[in-house]
Amino acid sequence: MGHIEGFLKIQRQEQQGRPVAERLRDFNEVYEAPSEELVIEQGARCMDCGIPYCHVACPLGNFIPFWNDRVSEGDWRQALEQLQRENNFPEFTGQLCPALCEGSCSLSLGFEPVTIRLIERQVIEHGFAQGWVVPEPPQTLTGKRVAVVGSGPAGLAAAQQLRRMGHEVTVFERDQQIGGLLRYGIPDFKLEKQIIDRRLAQLEAEGVQFMPGVHVGVSMPVEELCQGFDAILLAAGAQHPRDLPVPGRDLAGIHFAMEYLTQQNRRCAGEVIEPEVAIDAKGRHVLVIGGGDTGADCVGTALRQGAASVTSFELMPEPPNERAPDNPWPEWPRVLRKSSSHEEGGERIYSVLTRRLLGDGNGQVAAAAAVRVSWQRDEHGQWRMEELEDTAFTQPCDLVLLALGFSGPIRHGMIEQLGVALSANGAVATDANKMTSRPGVFAAGDMSRGQSLVVWAIAEGRTAAEGINQFLMDGS
Ligand SMILES: Cc1cc2nc3c(=O)[nH]c(=O)nc-3n(C[C@H](O)[C@H](O)[C@H](O)COP(=O)(O)OP(=O)(O)OC[C@H]3O[C@@H](n4cnc5c(N)ncnc54)[C@H](O)[C@@H]3O)c2cc1C
Repeated sequence: MGHIEGFLKIQRQEQQGRPVAERLRDFNEVYEAPSEELVIEQGARCMDCGIPYCHVACPLGNFIPFWNDRVSEGDWRQALEQLQRENNFPEFTGQLCPALCEGSCSLSLGFEPVTIRLIERQVIEHGFAQGWVVPEPPQTLTGKRVAVVGSGPAGLAAAQQLRRMGHEVTVFERDQQIGGLLRYGIPDFKLEKQIIDRRLAQLEAEGVQFMPGVHVGVSMPVEELCQGFDAILLAAGAQHPRDLPVPGRDLAGIHFAMEYLTQQNRRCAGEVIEPEVAIDAKGRHVLVIGGGDTGADCVGTALRQGAASVTSFELMPEPPNERAPDNPWPEWPRVLRKSSSHEEGGERIYSVLTRRLLGDGNGQVAAAAAVRVSWQRDEHGQWRMEELEDTAFTQPCDLVLLALGFSGPIRHGMIEQLGVALSANGAVATDANKMTSRPGVFAAGDMSRGQSLVVWAIAEGRTAAEGINQFLMDGS
């Protein structure tokens, strides 16, 4: 480790967003690329602390102190080689990950954590710019055929690993474009889509085959897959939206967040949305019900579309600014975070329960009736919600976006036809090798974990690839 006092002398510096007024005029990425000098300096803040909790907290087991050190010495090539050993797509996590690693960085005990995510992003961008990220096709082929269903980060990570092991890999995707939620859920201002295309070109050059527009279990019977392939990976996500079963739910102007976000991503890709189904926030008073990444992405999208106002309702209380005593380091800090979208505008209201949605008399939503709630722990330590007296209020709104999360994978079709067992949370149950109750059928990502994160999807895809390889090669 070259900079023994780096963390004492250098302050944490995060990536800078473009000015709000400028970025609200487009859907381009919010953050500006940092200078290499800044990233080298930030790498020198890593203490190489001996027991790297950052490494443990990362679902991929990224060997972070090593690449921090290499970056601080300006050795981008070795940093990249190490980074790519554990992570197929550092450009996705470098832009999207909440950085579980930074929450566990030893430096955060008395200082600000190392900007690990920023460094990761710059290492991979440097690698692409230098032409160091090249296809790595297999040297020998096994003759085994694997079908991957779903082209989100889990399916793509598994496909790349399996191909590099020498298997013939075909990825089936129900949408017309490859990428899963990276393509159609996450807005361009968080992840521009040429970042996905750049990586897909590498997978294609390695020999991964893509079959977009194939809805397994609907347009293609599951048995066709079972007969044509030696193993199957289900990486079809957990996109069954959680609904809000309150009176007035059937009024016009109320949509699931994903319907709304997908449309905008399609527009950004140059597609035309039919006027009769288009959802547009321009001039509307928007109410986003539900916090989290999806809710924040709705806020940013509505502001860019020119909403008259954007309000978010969150059922849970506002998190504290600092760690609570029952949330010590190195746990993930449950503290208040401001996404780039929340920096841009809109109001966030916490501890609020939506009781009903009210119409304008013509079948169009016009307001939400809500009440404030308080949260207390009961004698078993479980959180209990209580409505507060005399706090009922009405929030005017003519566009409501439901961002209440996802209740699990869509069961109708592929899952039902395969008859695989489900776990208590409704996701597809697997063993430690990611094999489901049906031999030769594996599951990974949100499909087996429930709604989660990109970093977990990549990690699960890699674990599933190992499991499939073992299954196919019978331990050899
Ligand atoms: C709006 C939004 C914002 C998010 N923001 C972040 C973020 O900032 N950071 C972060 O870490 N995570 C974020 N997430 C979560 C993250 O996107 C997911 O955890 C991750 O994409 C899961 O990857 P996956 O490969 O398991 O599934 P998905 O990305 O959901 O991909 C599954 C794919 O399978 C396809 N499919 C489904 N059924 C079939 C079938 N029967 N046949 C063929 N194809 C099928 C789907 O069309 C889809 O393309 C966000 C999620 C949403 C919804």
